[in-house]
Amino acid sequence: MKYSSDAVEKAIHELSKLPGVGRKSAQRHVFYLLKQSENDVQQLADALLELKSKVRNCSVCFNITENDPCPICTSEKRDRSVICVVEEANDVLALEKTGECRGLYHVLGGALSPLDGIGPDDLRVKELLQRLTEEVKEIIIATNPNTEGEATALYLAKLIKPMNIKISRIARGIPVGADLEYADEITLARAIEGRLEY
Ligand code: ZN
Repeated sequence: MKYSSDAVEKAIHELSKLPGVGRKSAQRHVFYLLKQSENDVQQLADALLELKSKVRNCSVCFNITENDPCPICTSEKRDRSVICVVEEANDVLALEKTGECRGLYHVLGGALSPLDGIGPDDLRVKELLQRLTEEVKEIIIATNPNTEGEATALYLAKLIKPMNIKISRIARGIPVGADLEYADEITLARAIEGRLEY
């Protein structure tokens, strides 16, 4: 069913493009917004626009940030000898919540997936290798425990092993096929503690 207002249809159409939002929930959100004050809706619109104008990728680790380099890369409290490699910026947030990663991060921007045509050149692998100076002693590979994540971990381990850097893979606790960002903090913290060396 279509609504007689083009504005309503347009809002539903845009909202239903969001992950996990179908037409039905988009409709619900639109009718909720219609009941809000002009000011509340303005604040939402401003917040969305600000996202695009202020947030960018850190030029070192590719985490999302408003200041480049990001606060983690510039922090003097972080252990610069350890880099934890993750697929997406969301994963940095999840790992930070555990408090177990005291080192730096590197966001690959995805995982290897030959079926989808995603190879090493599509990920920030070159950028990772450029960061592996003498200062770096350990790489923790925290890609997702699914087929793509495992393939990526193995690829990176083979690539980095000859460089005389300790490489480990987060292990215990994360269910196979699960996404890192949905793992609870305790499970994730245990997975980092129990990382296995390649
Ligand atoms: Zn950074």
